[in-house]
Amino acid sequence: MKKNKVIPRLSTPIIETHCHLDYLKELPLDTLLSKCIENNIEKIITIAVEPDNFQQVLKLINENEFIYGTQGVHPHQAITYNNNVKDEIIKNSKHKKVLAIGEIGLDYHYNKSPKDKQIEAFEAQLELACAENLPVVIHSRDAEDDTITILEKFAPRLLQKGVIHSFTSEIRLAKKAIELGFYLGFNGIITFKNAENVRAALKITPLSKLLLETDSPYLTPVPFRGKENAPYYLPCVAQYMADFLNHDCEELLKQIHQNSMSLFKF
Ligand SMILES: [Zn+2]
Repeated sequence: MKKNKVIPRLSTPIIETHCHLDYLKELPLDTLLSKCIENNIEKIITIAVEPDNFQQVLKLINENEFIYGTQGVHPHQAITYNNNVKDEIIKNSKHKKVLAIGEIGLDYHYNKSPKDKQIEAFEAQLELACAENLPVVIHSRDAEDDTITILEKFAPRLLQKGVIHSFTSEIRLAKKAIELGFYLGFNGIITFKNAENVRAALKITPLSKLLLETDSPYLTPVPFRGKENAPYYLPCVAQYMADFLNHDCEELLKQIHQNSMSLFKF
C-alpha cells in the first residue's frame, strides 16, 4: 500500500528552535508563515550564521511577530570572525527578540575554516554569551573531543547553557552535554533510514533535555524528502520521535514546549 504523504495534525503548539528562514526559497514568506500557523507552529527561531545574514535575521524578527532570532558566526564562516563582528553581535544581541548567540561551534567534517580559527571564534563567542547572559546554539560535527573540552571550560560561567543542535555526534558528547546542563536538538535526520547513531543519542536523552527543530531548508523529514524543508514539517519529526520513544505525541510536545520556553526566554 502506498503511504499517504500528510503532515500529522497535532494540537499542542510547537516551537521551531532552529531554521534558516532567509535561505528558504520554495514559497513566499507570507504563504510559508500561514502554512506554519495551520500546522500549529507557534514560534520560530531563525538562526544567524555569518555577518552577511545578521541584518536579514533582524529584518525577519522586526517584521513578524512570532519570529525570533540569534546572532553568531557558524564554524564554516569562522574565518570572518573579528572584533568588528564581535561588536556587531554584542549590539544586535541587545534586541529583545534575539534570544541566543549562534550558531557557533566546530565542524571538522568539512573544515571550511581552519581548526585553530574555528576554536578561536567558538571560544570568543562563548565568552560573549557569558557576558551577555544568553544561551548558545552549538553546531558540532566530527569534533567530539574539542567540543567536550570547550564546553567543560565554559559551562560553569555560561549560566543560560544552550543546545547542541542537529545532534549527530557520538553518544559520549550527548552524555557530557546533558551532564553539563545542555539540551539536544533533533530534526528530520531521526527519520532517515541510516541514522541509527542519531536515534541512539535520542534514546538516551532525558525528555527534559529534548528540543525539536527542522534546520530548514536542509534535512527534510520522511515522507517529504526531495522537497525544501520548512518549519511546518515539524509535526512529522514530532510524530516520528514520539513513536520511536513510545510516548504519547501530545504529551511529548507539551514537555518539549516547556523545554524550549525555559531555554530561550521569549
Ligand atoms: Zn543551522
